[in-house]
Amino acid sequence: MNIAEYKGVFVFAQQVDNELSGIALELVGKGKELAKDLGTEVTAVLVGSGVKALADELAAYGADKVILVDDPELKEYRTEPYTHALASVIEKYKPEIFLVGATAIGRDLGPRVSARVHTGLTADCTRLEIGDFPINPIPGREQLHNQLLMTRPAFGGNTIATIACPEFRPQMATVRPGVMQKARKDENAKAVIEEFNPGFTPNNNYVEILDIVKAVAETEDIMDAKILVSGGRGVCSAENFKMLEDLADVLGATVSCSRAAVDSGWKPKDLQVGQTGKTVRPNLYFAIGISGAIQHLAGMEESDVIIAINKDETAPIFDVADYGIVGDLNKIVPALTERLKAEFA
Ligand code: FAD
Repeated sequence: MNIAEYKGVFVFAQQVDNELSGIALELVGKGKELAKDLGTEVTAVLVGSGVKALADELAAYGADKVILVDDPELKEYRTEPYTHALASVIEKYKPEIFLVGATAIGRDLGPRVSARVHTGLTADCTRLEIGDFPINPIPGREQLHNQLLMTRPAFGGNTIATIACPEFRPQMATVRPGVMQKARKDENAKAVIEEFNPGFTPNNNYVEILDIVKAVAETEDIMDAKILVSGGRGVCSAENFKMLEDLADVLGATVSCSRAAVDSGWKPKDLQVGQTGKTVRPNLYFAIGISGAIQHLAGMEESDVIIAINKDETAPIFDVADYGIVGDLNKIVPALTERLKAEFA
């Protein structure tokens, strides 16, 4: 492998039902930053059937170029044709970096593609930057510049590992949704669109989709919510979450929770914030009866404003909170709700 031949930052622009997923725009945003550091461009790889119109949105969020792989075989996500599409793009265009979202689709696709093109992949990254590797010089070992440094929690979140891929290309990572920032939208920005079709010949690995049953969500996805009212073990029961729902109603907020509340069976897993739940970045995050374990903080500490309510003044949640209320949530939450109701009635 001649590493010097590999140039440019590529991101997989995930779309479902001809709608770009949020992660696609987050990756374009991050890819643009990395590309700037490397003095190169960010290219979005758009894969699907009849998806060309989405290229303009990718351009508006910062893509310099869009490679469009459009084929009827790519209408719904299936592992084999999508792997073939991305592996063929990598073989033809030789990118230096290739990023994929750590979504259900990306977690299936990323490792498969990396194995096919024979490179490494760091899964579920929470930070990406360009730097030297090894980070600190080691006597007798060459320090390489302009490497992709991929950071992710390791050993159950007890430590943070920074990983590089110095000997193979592309440097591949899957990236946690909700962690990277989208770039500011520029409606006038245009991208060069290049169509590429490697040819798709169905074989035994092409799964036949018989039916698609969509989950119907009754509540807003916590990753999209502007205000979250989050409860933990301190809430004590499923019934007591009613208090948090009342507060959320007054604020136009969505209820979320810690893993302890999920493990206790009080709330469903898709409301869990944290390392093994979702990463959220709302304008306002209430942490109610949540201690602030590192695995919880990993999913919410980037919130704009954090308000913690906890009876233990030494709880670590107060270290990241902008405002803290020390006391019994059973008294404070209803009082706050009543006060807000009176204020906004
Ligand atoms: P606790 O830590 O038990 O805290 C309850 C808090 O409520 C305490 O601070 C207490 O003072 C307060 N309290 C009690 N009663 C009241 C009251 N009446 N009024 C006010 N305050 C009160 N956790 C997550 O949340 N998300 C994750 O994604 C996640 N992933 C994990 C992954 C791994 C690999 C591991 C090992 C753990 C993970 N955890 C995760 C679990 C995490 O370590 C903590 O156990 C969990 O976050 C604790 O939840 P909690 O804060 O609700 O409960």
